[in-house]
Amino acid sequence: MLSSSSAAVPLAPRLSRRCARAVHWVVVPNAATAAAPDPAAVDAAARILRRARSVLFVTGAGISADSGLPTYRGVGGLYESDATEEGLPIEVLLSGETFRRRPATTWKYLGAIERACRGARPNRAHEAIAALEGALPRVVVLTQNIDGLHRAAGSRDVIEIHGDVHRLACTRCAFRARVPDYEGFEMPPRCPECAALVRPEVVLFGEMLPDEAVARLEEELRRGFDAVFSIGTTSVFPYVAAPVRMARVWGAGTVEVNPGETEVSGIVDVRLRCGAAAAMDALLSSVERSPVG
Ligand SMILES: [Zn+2]
Repeated sequence: MLSSSSAAVPLAPRLSRRCARAVHWVVVPNAATAAAPDPAAVDAAARILRRARSVLFVTGAGISADSGLPTYRGVGGLYESDATEEGLPIEVLLSGETFRRRPATTWKYLGAIERACRGARPNRAHEAIAALEGALPRVVVLTQNIDGLHRAAGSRDVIEIHGDVHRLACTRCAFRARVPDYEGFEMPPRCPECAALVRPEVVLFGEMLPDEAVARLEEELRRGFDAVFSIGTTSVFPYVAAPVRMARVWGAGTVEVNPGETEVSGIVDVRLRCGAAAAMDALLSSVERSPVG
């Protein structure tokens, strides 16, 4: 099951960075997250994990739904309809274009997103992934979530492909900061060094994915993995589905954790059709009964 780098290299994609048009912030329906996982599927997933020395976890909003984070359409009701106070779709208000022209408007909605994330704690799924990083030689997380919960759970090797709302950067100088929340901010916030506009290091609609994260992901895909887990994501973006598709080339086992049907449901080896916390809790218990390695 070890990855073959000679096979993987020609297929390592030059990932398109133009996929951010429809960035989902905290997406997917919060459905069936409490359902218990099928024991046979848990055992099959545990067998894949036990054989693996390197694992990639690809995660989306479904993993944070179990931390009480609102779903896409529930973020302060932002996405309930096309009608915002400004009379514009949310995708326009949260776009790089609007940020450049009307930063206060974009910041208003960024603030609403941050408030929705405030107080959320990592759940058993985040914790299980962090625990596995300590137990296996190589564990990488590729997440679309901007809530920072993987790092809060203790994961260190995390590719935040859409950024993190808690990281801020000046639009003019080199000032950067990590903040726990936006409490007490004067909106839109200004740089303490140069007074220019500050923004969160997240990918706004219509913006490119960050160079560093894309380069890192490409490098990891070149190396390949023994197992790929897709958790709580519909995998609509090519760079999210790519690792699952490449797993076949690497000879890697694939597991999907999602209550619903997704872009990759038809090609994974094992499906756990339930919420992330229940699935990863059951999986870790199964592996702990018969350790990894
Ligand atoms: Zn500055």
